[in-house]
Amino acid sequence: MTDTATYTVKGATGDWEIVVGLEVHAQVTANAKLFSGAATGFGAEPNSQVSLVDAAMPGMLPVLNGECVRQAVRTGLALNAQINKWSRFDRKNYFYADLPQGYQISQLYHPIVGEGAIAIETEAGDKSVVGIERIHLEQDAGKSVHDLHPTMSYVDLNRCGCALMEIVSKPDIRSPAEAGAYVAALRQLLRYVGSCDGNMDEGSMRADVNVSVRKPGAPFGTRTETKNVNSVRFIMQTVEVEARRQVDLIEGGGTVVQETRLFDPATATTRSMRSKEDAHDYRYFPDPDLLPVEFDDAYVADCLASLPELPVAKRARYTDVLGISAYNAAVLTADVETARYFDAVIAGIGTGSATAAANWVTSELFGALKKIGAAIEASPVSPAHAAELLALIGSGKISNSIGKQVLEAMIETGEGPAAIVAARGLEQVSDTGAIDAAIAAIIAGNADKVEQYKAGKEALFGFFVGQTMKAMGGKANPGVVNERLKALLGAA
Ligand code: ADP
Ligand code: MG
Repeated sequence: MTDTATYTVKGATGDWEIVVGLEVHAQVTANAKLFSGAATGFGAEPNSQVSLVDAAMPGMLPVLNGECVRQAVRTGLALNAQINKWSRFDRKNYFYADLPQGYQISQLYHPIVGEGAIAIETEAGDKSVVGIERIHLEQDAGKSVHDLHPTMSYVDLNRCGCALMEIVSKPDIRSPAEAGAYVAALRQLLRYVGSCDGNMDEGSMRADVNVSVRKPGAPFGTRTETKNVNSVRFIMQTVEVEARRQVDLIEGGGTVVQETRLFDPATATTRSMRSKEDAHDYRYFPDPDLLPVEFDDAYVADCLASLPELPVAKRARYTDVLGISAYNAAVLTADVETARYFDAVIAGIGTGSATAAANWVTSELFGALKKIGAAIEASPVSPAHAAELLALIGSGKISNSIGKQVLEAMIETGEGPAAIVAARGLEQVSDTGAIDAAIAAIIAGNADKVEQYKAGKEALFGFFVGQTMKAMGGKANPGVVNERLKALLGAA
């Protein structure tokens, strides 16, 4: 679906096209698990967040967590997807040490969310739309830990039973760059919606990467599925190396078998894990302990009303309504925290100052925060204080360069700008009396330079500006200084 040059893999027999579909597992942001009241926080002591339901003690019954349902519906709405007002949970039966139930509760036949779509843009600026096949809710498994003991494996059940949304894309992705852009766009959207924190390094988001290759225009080839890839870079690498492997395999006379593979970041290669089971190997059947999930239009409307302004709409508003440059709009909407901060600044200062505010946030504030290593949500400068500072600069009360000084003091002390300006006497001086007096002294002390200037060496004007600003402690209004210098040097 790319509208620009197609990405291909070069082979001995010509060009090959890559076809990719991703199954993204996103851990739902909720205080409790999908079917139990146990806590879900990351990094807790192993096996400290396990209820009797999660440990699958005999006779325990699951109780559906309504918040997880709400988050899945909100996510579906953000993806313009069909919301299924009737869905059902099925048991997917298999044995694994970190799955005490002996089955995973999932939604194979009747997922809560149906078809949708998301717009993506690669770093090179290529735009396309990727279809969403479905989103279903399911339980996560626990974690087996193999590297803590030489001969034994440990099991941590904290993650067992946490709610996952499995977001299945259509096979619409055509290059490593598009795969990366898709995951980045999805992650951004989930973070805006607040349904998943998107922390890939904590495992909150991971992807199964389905890859096949074909000659352009030919039917889809056989796909492999590389499991649990946990960073955008690794997902892109998986697409690249797996497509290369398949092309080399086919051109060498082999055939691609549908199988599950693993990506090894150390060698940037994939290797076979197991051949693909048929769906009925899992003996799926409706979970007899759970009723179907049913809700009405009012519930969906309520979920829709709870959505914030989403990235695409926000970006469009920033450029079209606020007049912010496309580049700054992209930067300011990239992360939900930054967008939230910027919206609060605009609420404080008014839309008329949006361009100035956008420039200030992306340059001055970002720079200052980078220096102290703080994320924007932990900024010592509140949006209200930022708006106040911008108003002081905008009205000419303080100069731009004093503004930088005030920002530094705000970062250090957490104080408001007005208080800092007052306490340190930093108000800009536009009073021509004081400025004229300073200029007169400089003219008197630099007779030689005045003469050269008057003889045509105009570059010296900058010297006089600098001297005047210095004499005024940087607080003089630069416009007034320029104007008075021209007048007084002319008359000298
Ligand atoms: P399974 O449970 O067997 O993995 P799903 O239907 O859940 O099957 O997911 C299939 C995934 O594989 C989807 O993301 C889909 O887009 C992708 N896919 C399907 N056919 C191909 C293909 N020929 N090449 C690449 N990806 C594919
Ligand atoms: Mg799969």
